[in-house]
Amino acid sequence: MRKRVFNSIFLTALVTMLLTVSLLLVAVHSGLSHSTRSRLAAECSAITAELRTGGQGELARIGRVYADRITLIAPDGRVLYDSTQDAATMDDHGSRPEVLAAQQHGVGESSRLSATLSEQTYYYAQQLDDGTVLRVAAMADSAFGAVATASPWIVLIVLLTLLVAALLASWLTHVFLEPIVTLDLKVPLKNDAYDELSPLLHRMDKQNRKIEAQLGELKRRQAEFDDITARMDEGLVLFSAQGDIVFANRAARALFPKNEAAGAYLTLCRDPEYIRVVEAALGGESAHGRLEKDGRVHSLTASSVVEEGQGHAAVLFMVDITARDQAERQRQEFTANVSHELKTPLTSIMGYAEIMEKGIVKPADIAPFAGKIRAEAVRLLTLIEDIIRLSQLDEGGGPTSFEPVELFALCGTVRDRLQHKAEAHKITLRVTGQPVTVAAQWRTLEQMVFNLADNAIAYNRPGGSVTVETGTADGAPFVRVADTGIGIALADQQRVFERFYRVDKSHSKVTGGTGLGLSIVKHGAALHHAAIELDSTLGEGTTITLLFPKTQAS
Ligand code: ADP
Repeated sequence: MRKRVFNSIFLTALVTMLLTVSLLLVAVHSGLSHSTRSRLAAECSAITAELRTGGQGELARIGRVYADRITLIAPDGRVLYDSTQDAATMDDHGSRPEVLAAQQHGVGESSRLSATLSEQTYYYAQQLDDGTVLRVAAMADSAFGAVATASPWIVLIVLLTLLVAALLASWLTHVFLEPIVTLDLKVPLKNDAYDELSPLLHRMDKQNRKIEAQLGELKRRQAEFDDITARMDEGLVLFSAQGDIVFANRAARALFPKNEAAGAYLTLCRDPEYIRVVEAALGGESAHGRLEKDGRVHSLTASSVVEEGQGHAAVLFMVDITARDQAERQRQEFTANVSHELKTPLTSIMGYAEIMEKGIVKPADIAPFAGKIRAEAVRLLTLIEDIIRLSQLDEGGGPTSFEPVELFALCGTVRDRLQHKAEAHKITLRVTGQPVTVAAQWRTLEQMVFNLADNAIAYNRPGGSVTVETGTADGAPFVRVADTGIGIALADQQRVFERFYRVDKSHSKVTGGTGLGLSIVKHGAALHHAAIELDSTLGEGTTITLLFPKTQAS
């Protein structure tokens, strides 16, 4: 723009100057030629008057007086006299335009350029009374000649003019453009520029405000998005169509703490499943996968997003499904275990019944066979009851509501129920401690203490003892079942609370255990917000404590 403005001003100045000079030249030239022609006409009239009085003999004298050339031409064109040349040697002048005009109209004039164009000759002719024509001629420098003569000066003047025009143009360009160049477009209305720019500046101000509002809205939305995604437990990663990580939220970055959450998608993770789902989404297909990392399981869901003219961008969701996965595995294991545990006693019952049906049992053996069938049926019933109880606990403990339960009394009823079994196993069973009341489901709590005491008897040694103690420790109510039995190895101590887990399967079968006793204790404890503490030494005995929350003490 600066260049264009400069060129325009420079050209305008140059053309104006050249035009002015040319016109001035023409004006001066025409002024000069007019005065020459007037002078010649006056001279011609004066000489004519002198000739009228003095006759043609005066010509030679007159010719010497006047500086201009004087010629007398006969009506037939012959030159009779010339003040500068010998008339006899001169050619016919009858065809000269000024002579012809004088012969026809009385006076005539003309002018002619010399061959070099440097000089111009003016002629004025007047017809005398005798038919001859008197011509006065004067020579003057032509305009072209004047220009040619002054050419070095003219070149200098032109160069000077060019310089002045250039300086002028440069200065004017600066003056014109300065208010535009220094416009502060952030605050268009505060500029004191040309009035003509006012509509443009107003429009710019309007647009500025619109852009500012849109930018504010965009920032607000971005902050909202950042806030939401930062709070999300799910990992969220956005990829561009080129496969670069555009965004990774806090959870995603926490999942891959050592990896770069910038650059290409491969910098984040090299797991084949991850690569497969991301590449599928970048290829335009939604995909699902599973990522196992640091002992946790994550489900991967990659969706494809069409990016205008760029291909497919991708969004990846990573959800921690470890708990769900574990629960599903436990459910499958439990179902398999349940069917196995149910089948075992049923197969025995069917076997005994079949033998009896075929009549191959001696009458004396019928009673023991029936006893075995009964024992297996009891085992089956116990198992079913335990399964039902466990599923009730899974669903929050069944319909029974919480009530104040006095632990010492509850342990007394358990002792009464197990006294017979303890005696059969030659075990001393006793309940000690202080009465303490907690909010509990009586039936559930009784079964929990029963299962603990039952195990303490079952996994004991003849002559051993089981002590059930109640009381408060640091204000927290507790029930403690201690035995002098076989103990549990350290490796098994956590696992004994799993469903159907038994340290010694054959021993458990002899004791009639279902493998669900401690599972029920675990779920029951969770229902009562009680903690379980297990302290056991192999070969010395086991102590299991149920520790209730302090607030429950009364
Ligand atoms: P079970 O019906 O087999 O007794 P539990 O769930 O009650 O099932 O117990 C799981 C396993 O834990 C038992 O099979 C046994 O091996 C072990 N166990 C439980 N209580 C004791 C204990 N007091 N002393 C030693 N081992 C025990």
